[in-house]
Amino acid sequence: MNLILLGAPGAGKGTQARRLQDAHGLVQLSTGDMLRAAVAAGSEVGQKAKAIMDAGQLVSDDIMIAMIADRIVQPDCKNGFILDGFPRTTAQAEALDGMLAEKGLKLDHVIEMKVDEEELVERVKGRYSCAKCGAGYHDRFQQPKVDGVCDSCGGTEFKRRADDNEETVRARLVAYREQTAPILPYYRGKGVLTSVDGMAEIDEVTRQIEAVIR
Ligand code: AMP
Repeated sequence: MNLILLGAPGAGKGTQARRLQDAHGLVQLSTGDMLRAAVAAGSEVGQKAKAIMDAGQLVSDDIMIAMIADRIVQPDCKNGFILDGFPRTTAQAEALDGMLAEKGLKLDHVIEMKVDEEELVERVKGRYSCAKCGAGYHDRFQQPKVDGVCDSCGGTEFKRRADDNEETVRARLVAYREQTAPILPYYRGKGVLTSVDGMAEIDEVTRQIEAVIR
């Protein structure tokens, strides 16, 4: 099964993608995570991407399409994947269709996670994650059960993304509205798009997504 999770920054794509990965043996392909790894490694792509990401803008289609084309042919993707953060432009969506057709693969569902923009700014500003296992937390909405200790792995180091500040979040929301939201009609036209309520509780969002893919 191959899925796309579409939604503005902070809509909960990463959280739900991790749950789907664990529940269905799919692989989460987060282009944001791949870019952050490239930035941390200081690779050529990382060096090009860093300033763009810090400004809340989109990295070029060429780079992103090449990154995903390399990734979906890896053996761990053979049971299916969840695209989280890709495609983000119509050019990326069209390139993805071409790649999948070439490999005899198809998209089973595109799931839009609908959210309120002001709520997103609050969500994104307060979020952080375990440095060891990546489990997500939030200053207000989801603190670890024991202060300073990760519920999932017991890790005690946490990190925040450089682009999770108010100014950059607002720029990322504009990029979503202007460049990514126009993909929705593209997938609606193909009959693969379903929307879920990304404002609901995390478990409820999972239930809604499970109902779509079942
Ligand atoms: P994310 O973790 O998905 O919020 O992505 C963080 C940042 O990485 C975005 O704000 C963009 O600068 C960049 N990025 C991630 N995925 C893409 C993509 N598919 N196309 C262009 N830029 C991307």
